[in-house]
Amino acid sequence: MTCIFCAIRDGQVPAVRVYEDDRVIAFMDINPLTDGHLLVVPRAHAETIWDLGDEDARAVMSVARKLAHALRHALSPDGLNVIQANGRAAHQTVFHYHLHLIPRWVDDGKHLAWTPVPGQLDHIRQLGQHIAAAVGQVT
Ligand code: 5GP
Ligand code: ZN
Repeated sequence: MTCIFCAIRDGQVPAVRVYEDDRVIAFMDINPLTDGHLLVVPRAHAETIWDLGDEDARAVMSVARKLAHALRHALSPDGLNVIQANGRAAHQTVFHYHLHLIPRWVDDGKHLAWTPVPGQLDHIRQLGQHIAAAVGQVT
C-alpha cells in the first residue's frame, strides 16, 4: 500500500514544506485545526512510535523544538499542542509516524481536551509499578 507521507517526502505529492534535513521533513497539515498546524515526519517510513528508531525519535523532537520557536516567532500563538497518535484506537489516520504542532490561541474555539476525573490511587500505584518494571525489559 502506498504511503501518502512517503509520497510527499519523495515529491510525488505536493505539500507546503516548511523544513527539511537528512532525517526529517515538516509540512503544513492539509486539514489544519488552527493556523500554522504542521506535521513533523521522519524521512524513514515507520508506522508508529513502536517502529521508530531512537535516532529518528531524537531528530523529530529536535526539529519539533526548532519549529515550535519558528511558530512562536511567526504567529505569536498563546500556546502550542504537540500531539502524536499511534494506532487506530488512538485515532491515527496516516500510518507514517508524525508529530502534530498545533498553535493555540485563547478562545480559539477548538477542543482537544478531556474532562479530568480523579483515578483510584491504589490502581494508579499498581499500574505505575507494573510499567516501571517493564522499563527494564525493553531497549
Ligand atoms: P493522524 O490522525 O494520523 O494523527 O494525522 C494525520 C494528519 O495528516 C491529519 O491531520 C491530516 O489532515 C493530515 N494529512 C492527511 N493527508 C494529508 C496530505 O495529503 N497532505 C497533508 N499536508 N496532510 C495530510
Ligand atoms: Zn511512509
